[in-house]
Amino acid sequence: MLRNDQLAEWDRETFFHPSTHLAQFARGELPDRIVKTGDGVYITDREGNRLLDAFAGLYCVNVGYGRSEIADAIAKQARELAYYHAYVGHGTEASITLAKMVVDRAPVGMSKVYFGLSGSDANETNVKLVWYYNNVLGRPEKKKIISRWRGYHGSGLMTGSLTGLELFHNQFDLPLSQVIHTDAPYYFHRNVRSQSEADFVAQCAASLEELIEKEGADTIAAFFGEPVLGTGGIVPPPEGYWDAIQTVLRKHDILLIADEVVTGFGRLGCMFGSDHYGIRPDIITIAKGLTSAYAPLSGSIVSEKVWKVLEDGTDKLGPIGHGWTYSAHPIGAAAGVANLKLIDDLDLVTNARETGAYFKQALKDALDDIEIVGDIRGEGLMAAVEFVQDRETGARFEASRKVGPAIATALLDRSKVIGRAMPQGDILGFAPPLCLTTEEADTIVEATRDAVKTVAAGL
Ligand code: PLP
Repeated sequence: MLRNDQLAEWDRETFFHPSTHLAQFARGELPDRIVKTGDGVYITDREGNRLLDAFAGLYCVNVGYGRSEIADAIAKQARELAYYHAYVGHGTEASITLAKMVVDRAPVGMSKVYFGLSGSDANETNVKLVWYYNNVLGRPEKKKIISRWRGYHGSGLMTGSLTGLELFHNQFDLPLSQVIHTDAPYYFHRNVRSQSEADFVAQCAASLEELIEKEGADTIAAFFGEPVLGTGGIVPPPEGYWDAIQTVLRKHDILLIADEVVTGFGRLGCMFGSDHYGIRPDIITIAKGLTSAYAPLSGSIVSEKVWKVLEDGTDKLGPIGHGWTYSAHPIGAAAGVANLKLIDDLDLVTNARETGAYFKQALKDALDDIEIVGDIRGEGLMAAVEFVQDRETGARFEASRKVGPAIATALLDRSKVIGRAMPQGDILGFAPPLCLTTEEADTIVEATRDAVKTVAAGL
């Protein structure tokens, strides 16, 4: 086995890490953890540290680590047929079965699945499908896409543009001109503190409508949104938000793409976030929980309404000119089939709902008395604690004080629990595997109280 110091040296010499402060990493100022194994909600590194992963990797290892059912399915598929493409009507037992399983679980009106590899490429596919759709319908001007500030839809050119976080735009010449952003449904940071939730929702809908009218509804193709804002701060929408937004979109004939890369397959305690909030999307983006990240696979679930137009389009124009070599990769598909079976067999959707409710309440009970805790929020097994300078006004700390990252570091160093310092704001995020037990939830909560009190004492 290679020595740790040898690996660390090669790592610095050759490995370009994503979403990393490159200079700090090169100078050895960042932790360079080499992860070795995983079981349940825990990972173990090569130094022998066993860490409770309360973010399931990047909210993706939904069934938990070390599931031999999925590993065996992957091995079997690799031996039988590691690869064949899906072009021109080809498939495998695994990819066809997975498509059937996904559509059977999807909200009403969904019809077909296009498989990709990552959430980003699935959203790129969705933009292309929406453009194609409007061209086939003879509306070539109806092309702009609306997404929300603080939304996260990936790191590609279009998807990085859809993402509404500065870090993903700065110095990359993004967003591209076809993308426009509207308000995030972030009630905690409303401008007028006395504003009711209902008035705030009405304001979000009105400002969306204003934007549509300013741009011209005949220039706007689609609205992209996550049922619960994820990377932008883990922000569940206020009551009635999705109804109000959908009313505006329907009025202006704008397609709705529900980005369920995080919320799909149980995270909110429902199979899909769309079901949870009464969203009737035209396309749904899936990834992460589709295979619990045992292999890379994503998908675009297309509604019957969109599908009919795509079909007509190919009758007029010929085969659809969109494909990846690895679309519906058999190994990813085999992982997906085994993963979705496991989610059913272990009833993880129910566990996400019940243990998620327990976890959120326990966080509230443990943290509510700490002055810097401004908001504790969540849905299913997605939760966040937001830290503020002033509870009454919701005023944030100076970003340079890095309060959120300091708390995430204290959590890890003092208790070996992984939470995520969300990239914009002082927000500690949790999205543990859906198999989390109440005892494990208690461990996370106690560790969080300790970390928050420790950091708060030093401010
Ligand atoms: N959409 C959402 C809602 C996400 O959270 C993510 C990733 O976190 C993506 C899209 C992009 O997925 P990927 O990182 O697999 O490209």
